[in-house]
Amino acid sequence: MLVLVDLDNTLVDRTGSFRRWALDWIPAHGGAAVDVAWTIEADNDGYEPRPRLAAQLAERLGLPVQHLLEELQLGVVAHLDPDPAVAAVLQEAVAAGWSPVVVTNGSVRQQEAKLRRTGLDKLVAGWVVSEGVGVRKPDRRIFDLGAEAAGLPSAAGGWMIGDNPADDIAGAAAAGLRTVWLHRGRQWPSSLAVEPTRTADDFPSALRGILGS
Ligand SMILES: [Mg+2]
Repeated sequence: MLVLVDLDNTLVDRTGSFRRWALDWIPAHGGAAVDVAWTIEADNDGYEPRPRLAAQLAERLGLPVQHLLEELQLGVVAHLDPDPAVAAVLQEAVAAGWSPVVVTNGSVRQQEAKLRRTGLDKLVAGWVVSEGVGVRKPDRRIFDLGAEAAGLPSAAGGWMIGDNPADDIAGAAAAGLRTVWLHRGRQWPSSLAVEPTRTADDFPSALRGILGS
């Protein structure tokens, strides 16, 4: 049984790690509280392209762009903490015969660093990173590549768990998966034609909820 899972703000607290990084690193490099607040806002929950954010922040702080780009990629990863509840439910799923595969948009170096930092690399059956395969969520092909990573011919009939309505939920639904949306306190956007199969408060309850299905 296949369960595809998003990485940022699904398996790992990407928003929290970015905030912790910004609070540590920016004041240590000459920035003020206003720069920290600006950076957290400009990050746009990770959706602002890294090169553009690095260029703007480099100008604010008077630092080399390359330095900022490096920090935004790996410094943020160093502020990620493993979540024991996430590890426990993944182990339960594998013991019950499920194949969890990470399907994530982003750079291979950064996303693999997150998997290793949190030990998730040892707990999942595989992963697909958009940069590595040349296709991004919500493109349905990336979900089939996730299935392939688990040795399955197609993702159809499996499950997808994620927090992004368009990329994770609508994309997976188009590829024939059932879905669990992590709402993170948001309303489901009425602009989307599809709805998630289920909604959950967090990853452990999302995965535990489908283990018996
Ligand atoms: Mg996400």
